[in-house]
This record gives sequence, structure tokens and C-alpha cells, in this order.
Amino acid sequence: MTKKRKQRILLIEDEAGLRQTLKLNLKEQGYKVITASDGHEGLEKARTKSPDLIILDLMLPGMDGLSLMRVLRLEEIDVPVLMLTARTSEMDKIIGLESGADDYLTKPFSLGELMARIRALLRRADRTRTRETLSSGGVTLDLVSRRATRDGRPLELSPKAFSLLAELMRHEHAVLSRDLLLARVWGEDYIGDPRTVDVHIRWLREQIEEDPSQPKLIQTVRGIGYRFEGGAEIEDGVTDDEET
Ligand code: CA
Repeated sequence: MTKKRKQRILLIEDEAGLRQTLKLNLKEQGYKVITASDGHEGLEKARTKSPDLIILDLMLPGMDGLSLMRVLRLEEIDVPVLMLTARTSEMDKIIGLESGADDYLTKPFSLGELMARIRALLRRADRTRTRETLSSGGVTLDLVSRRATRDGRPLELSPKAFSLLAELMRHEHAVLSRDLLLARVWGEDYIGDPRTVDVHIRWLREQIEEDPSQPKLIQTVRGIGYRFEGGAEIEDGVTDDEET
């Protein structure tokens, strides 16, 4: 047993029954649970209670999960978010990813599945916080000196390209949309064409891919955006279960 501060989970869910069940189970797992029953209350608690993770229902009264997500990212409240969506439709899946949530689950889900996702997200966040380098698939970024290498060979990346690659690697295995990348790398105020992202991705691929025409590290997810896959380091596989 390690003496550690209890990790805090903010649960934003309007269905009272589900909220109670989840709260109880999360507490049993040793988490401190803060609850909110609508979007506005959720946002307020995200701002003031410094949660380690947020479980966010997509459909909420007041302010829905997507709008809430947008405000969190705008305010750079960089907490892992597990989105709960109601249906298994492709649309909801895309919404879950588009929103910039770190992971998502479609209802109904098993408690075991939920707990596994939570543990994975918290572990990932922990690693990211303490790291000064990002390394995967032969690519290493030193976030302090902002130097990048591929198999030990230095890469020449523009500051924006470096930031873009760092953003993708920080969220390895997750799909990040062009709009999200644009907002995080170029800033919310940047009025530009999402194709700016594509141009930088092309430059990056020329530097880091063995065959830029068959990219393996930076993958295009058609109609959505990009994903970094360094391979080998998938620890939990939880973000990878595609429906068959
Ligand atoms: Ca709901």
C-alpha cells in the first residue's frame, strides 16, 4: 500500500440512478468522488475542485458534454476526460473523438470496463505530467530543449511542427481532429485553414516516416484527423478496441 492522496474524479451525469451507482462504485475503488448533475455545475466544479479525471456524460441539461469539453480545453484545464455517450452509432463515436475527450464509453457499459478505462487514463496522465521527453516509435522529443530525433538522428522541425508532433505523441493512440490540433498548436485565436495542419503533417512525415507515402507513425483517420501510433508501447489496449 502506498500512501497517496486519493485521486479525485469529477462525475458529471444527470441520470440520478446512474450517478449514484457510479459514485458508490468509484468510492469503493478508493477514489474521491465529486458529482455534478448538469453541465454548468460540472464546469464550475472542474474549475474549482481540481479533479484528476472527469467522467462526462454527453447529453446533459444546461450545457452539453461537447460544449463543456470545449470550454475546458479553451481554459486549458488539461484533465483527462472520459466521455459517456448514449448510443453505439458511428456518429456518437465520432463525436466522442472529435470533442477532444481522451476516451469514451458507450452506454450501457460494465463497471469493470469503466474502472479499467479510468485506471488507464490516470496512469497515462501521470506519466505525461512527469515526463520531460516523449518517446515512441523511434521518435524522441526533448520537451525542454525542444530537440527532436528519429533513431538518434536529429530532426529539423519548425517550432509549430515540433508542437504539433508533441501534441500527437502526448495523446498517442487517440484521434485528434484538425480543428483541435489547430486550436492547441496555433491557438484559439488563429483564424486559419485547417489545411495548415495537413501541410505541417506532410512536413513531419517527410522527416519521421520511413516511407512518407505510406505513413505508419502519423496516421490519417479519414474525415476526422490524425493519430500517432508508435507501436509496441500499447499498455492496456483499451483505446484500441474497434468494433468489429
Ligand atoms: Ca444524460
